[in-house]
Amino acid sequence: MVIFKEIGPLRAYFSENGRHQLMRGFVPTMGALHQGHLELIKTSKRDNAITVCSIFVNPTQFNNPSDLEKYPRTVEKDIAQLEAAGCDVLFCPEREEMYQKTSTLQFDFGKLDKVFEGEFRPGHFSGVALVVSKLFNIVVPNRAYFGQKDFQQFKIISRLVEELNFALELICVPTQRESNGLAMSSRNLRLTAEQRTQATVFYRSLVFAKTELQAGMDFKSVHERVAQMCAREPGVKLEYFTLADRENLNRLESVNEASRSILLLAGFVAGIRLIDNMFVEA
Ligand code: AMP
Repeated sequence: MVIFKEIGPLRAYFSENGRHQLMRGFVPTMGALHQGHLELIKTSKRDNAITVCSIFVNPTQFNNPSDLEKYPRTVEKDIAQLEAAGCDVLFCPEREEMYQKTSTLQFDFGKLDKVFEGEFRPGHFSGVALVVSKLFNIVVPNRAYFGQKDFQQFKIISRLVEELNFALELICVPTQRESNGLAMSSRNLRLTAEQRTQATVFYRSLVFAKTELQAGMDFKSVHERVAQMCAREPGVKLEYFTLADRENLNRLESVNEASRSILLLAGFVAGIRLIDNMFVEA
């Protein structure tokens, strides 16, 4: 795997030895890599001749400075995992390489970035859209891979690609979970083994809700039951739990007939914020 910290040499590498003709898959990450990230790499390797991963803890998408400061950084281990997974290129710039000036550019996706994560993390999606646009312009991939775990992010990036005419295909990879159901996340590294077990209440809530909705229970009753399940778990605080249309993220009261519903939730375990979601068919 070749590693670049600077944009110039990365661009030069892609233009050399006919590499510009090879299909290029791209997996942007913030590091602290786990099996979820590696699944994106694996999918990209299957589809493309060159797989590029980026590791950059993007300051413009953190609305909470302490969250940015405490975000896990495990670069040596990440490099070893990427090597083992057969990643071809790693781009891991310093902050100054990505933001030579303080950027004032703002993105507004209408309703899409105001609900759910957008409501609780103001400015987050504008920061995501900014860094993803920059990375797409630097890496110039044919395909880019994102996780379903961050489903609202996937919808926003899809809109970004459409509106700014990025010439690439986006692929949404299913959420990878621990054997107990907990969605893999870099933030899980900040939890103890006991807290990780408590965090499975979010997965259990999604499975319960999906089953009950499909059996005909209304979402209001499901929501009450889920709130109770979470309240019973020590150290767990549910922030939001919603049923939405997968296409436009409009809230729903029952599973929609076109079978395009999604349950989305966010919550805290011992003060660490986690998110998860699950598709629900009618
Ligand atoms: P992050 O490093 O958390 O910004 O994530 C980088 C990419 O990995 C994003 O596209 C995430 O949606 C994706 N990702 C994170 N966790 C998982 C997971 N458990 N399963 C699949 N993809 C994931």
